[in-house]
Amino acid sequence: MSTFLNNALSCIRDDVRAAQAYPVASSAGMVKLDVMENPFRLSPELQAQLGARLGAVAINRYPAESTAKLAAALAAHAGMPDGCAITLGNGSDELITMLSMAVSKAGAKILSPSPSFVMYELSARYQNLQFVGVPLRAADFELDGPSMLAAIAEHRPALIYLSYPNNPTGNLWDATVIEQIIQAAPGLVVMDEAYQPFAAGDSMALLARYPQVLVMRTMSKFGLAGVRIGYLIGQAALIAEIDKLRPPFNISVLNAEAGLFALDHADVYAAQAATLRAERERVFSALQAMAGVQAFPSQGNMILVRVADAAHAFAGMKSRGVLIKNSHAAHPLLNNCLRITIGSAEENQAMLAALQESLS
Ligand code: PMP
Repeated sequence: MSTFLNNALSCIRDDVRAAQAYPVASSAGMVKLDVMENPFRLSPELQAQLGARLGAVAINRYPAESTAKLAAALAAHAGMPDGCAITLGNGSDELITMLSMAVSKAGAKILSPSPSFVMYELSARYQNLQFVGVPLRAADFELDGPSMLAAIAEHRPALIYLSYPNNPTGNLWDATVIEQIIQAAPGLVVMDEAYQPFAAGDSMALLARYPQVLVMRTMSKFGLAGVRIGYLIGQAALIAEIDKLRPPFNISVLNAEAGLFALDHADVYAAQAATLRAERERVFSALQAMAGVQAFPSQGNMILVRVADAAHAFAGMKSRGVLIKNSHAAHPLLNNCLRITIGSAEENQAMLAALQESLS
């Protein structure tokens, strides 16, 4: 290796060089139930309409009006309360990065229950912030209220994330404990509602009562994972600060147009979400009836299950063409757990058959 390359590499942070890249499993030809995507494609008619709209976009210009138009449409779609504002991310992953940057004063900490979405911790670490993960209750993955409050008192986190419903456990947490956490929080509290399209409950009402609360959502689980649009809603004064950290042209004109198109057809996506919620209940019953499987109730488009040997079941399903997520190594509380995304009825049937065959 040339000296110049070695010198260049030696300038990269040691913790970054020691880290692994975010894993994206190869899935060609498989029933893909690993990352909570919406399984449904647009109808040929809607695809043609989308193509025409994208074809008419002025891609020679930097994004400007289209971003503002999408932000306004998302605010209306979400029912943004008065006094609040919205900012957009290239997926909510980018919003998480912006939030970490916003609070990255020396010694600042970020806290979330654990296990939860891995980017909270990764993003904190990459901003040289300390991450505090507070274990969920082992039996039901409910928030451990006393532990959360004790950790908040001890660490005084600048930012708390509550994934609602939680990834990977799928549950909505107790509303009383959430309010206790918000009231004890010395800084910002982000309600991450990535899975809101599938849940019976959301946090929009908290915005009016608690100015430190932000609600983060994404179009990914709605059906646009490939498009990359996340949004963050909160008090205008807070959003104005976080928006300063947004890369100026982060929402491409094509993404914005696709997002607007999807919102014009919100009824199509609402029907897909309803289908997936019904499938989730059907799959949950089937999993509960399967010997050797413990299924945890979910309000998301995924179900966490515990089996006797997750590695064995995961490999067996993979060899049968079904890709799910083996969560075993992600956290001690996820011992022998698999996370299964809800797909179409046919995909779910294939998944259930493959799981049954892979248990022994
Ligand atoms: N929040 C949660 C809880 C998630 O599970 C995910 C993705 N799995 C995200 C945020 C990020 O979503 P995206 O970047 O696609 O908007």
